[in-house]
Amino acid sequence: MLEDGWADDIVLEIDEAGMIQSIEAGADTRGCERIEGAVLPGMGNLHSHAFQRAMAGLAEQTGTKDPGDSKLAKGDDFWGWRDVMYGFLARLAPDQVEAIAGWLYLEMLKGGYTGVAEFHYLHNAPDGSAYEDSTEMSSRIIAAANRAGIALTLLPVLYQTSDFGGQPAVDAQVRFAKSTSEYLAMLETLHARHAGKLDFRLGIAAHSLRAVPPEALSEMLEGAGAIDPTMPIHIHIAETTKEVADCIAWSGAPPVAWLLDHAAVDHHWTLVHATHMSEVEIRRAARSGSIAGLCPTTEANLGDGLFALPDYLREGGRIGIGSDANVALDPFEELRLLDYGQRLIHRQRSPSLPEPSQPDPSLPDQSASIGAGLWRRALDGGATALGTQTGCLAPGYRADLIVIDTDQAGLAGRSGEFLLDSLVFAPARDAIRDVMVGGAWVIKDRRHEAEDDLAVKYLAAVTEMMAG
Ligand SMILES: [Zn+2]
Repeated sequence: MLEDGWADDIVLEIDEAGMIQSIEAGADTRGCERIEGAVLPGMGNLHSHAFQRAMAGLAEQTGTKDPGDSKLAKGDDFWGWRDVMYGFLARLAPDQVEAIAGWLYLEMLKGGYTGVAEFHYLHNAPDGSAYEDSTEMSSRIIAAANRAGIALTLLPVLYQTSDFGGQPAVDAQVRFAKSTSEYLAMLETLHARHAGKLDFRLGIAAHSLRAVPPEALSEMLEGAGAIDPTMPIHIHIAETTKEVADCIAWSGAPPVAWLLDHAAVDHHWTLVHATHMSEVEIRRAARSGSIAGLCPTTEANLGDGLFALPDYLREGGRIGIGSDANVALDPFEELRLLDYGQRLIHRQRSPSLPEPSQPDPSLPDQSASIGAGLWRRALDGGATALGTQTGCLAPGYRADLIVIDTDQAGLAGRSGEFLLDSLVFAPARDAIRDVMVGGAWVIKDRRHEAEDDLAVKYLAAVTEMMAG
């Protein structure tokens, strides 16, 4: 899959740094490594909380006991799930975080994600004290990404208050809380240690408007801008109707409008979820150039609501997808659910392909194929959200790609746009055979070289946690 369509017998030249140097159809193939199958750009996963992988499936019973903690979920919505999650993370040690993230990132690679933006807020020890090295937990995430071979955009998260209006953080949040100066110092250390690496990007995140007061938000943006003005900036926003109501009660405005009024939101920004927006907010968010960070399987799992995709796309909005709570690790599944939600609510088959009110020739998708159109949109938004030159097989882009096994029976007779439509909408599981990140194979014949080791460590970490 190339920038402007499909081509056969492509020669892809990759330089030593792992970037695509040239791409040519019908070139001399002598001395080249041959790849059989269909090659797609790898997907950027714009939103993950790695540790939540270990609790996927453990918060599905109303009034469930949190394993090992005897804490009861209070309700069957986002907020009840959050109680279970808080009980779970209270026990996590650095080794366990690294083990969970390592296995998770391997699973992401196998699913077709070649890069991930880790929205990382677990900074402190269980009692709320800082680790001796304030970047301890961040370093574990980086080590896990390196071991798995996935490209990482690390988003250390600023988290200070439990609700709008500066409510102090509650006990369950002591592992997240940092003062703005502590946060910026941590950011500087990470930048000094890791900036400039091919498979690493540093960004910033405000957890949400309820967790970051306005003054801290401005200070954070200013401080981070002084370190690197091109950093990706992410924020959870308008995920639940309660958050919207609380924000209006606090400020008179819903969260997306408040943010657009108080920060210079542009293409550096990713608004994660943005589920509940008014018509005016949809128009303004779409035209800001920011990316809507959609996490369909998690939003469905938590009962958050449906994003107004057709309205947003009609205004020229850009989207990417994230695995968020990691209840699914498959970009095709995210896009399928994103689209099916829209079909069900609009009672149409193609509400995800609206005519834009003001066509923008710089947008990648002019396709009539729903699967290929969504894949291209998510590639574009994912790359921008991760702050990387990825999402496209063209010179100057990082060589992040996935190889689809077109010999498997489930994909018989599929190529081009029909192949993408089939990957999203047909039973074609386990179709990804090989995965490359930065010019290096990380999955070959569906295997990762560290698979056994990562599995053993993950199993040990989860077993310890379940034992409490
Ligand atoms: Zn999240």
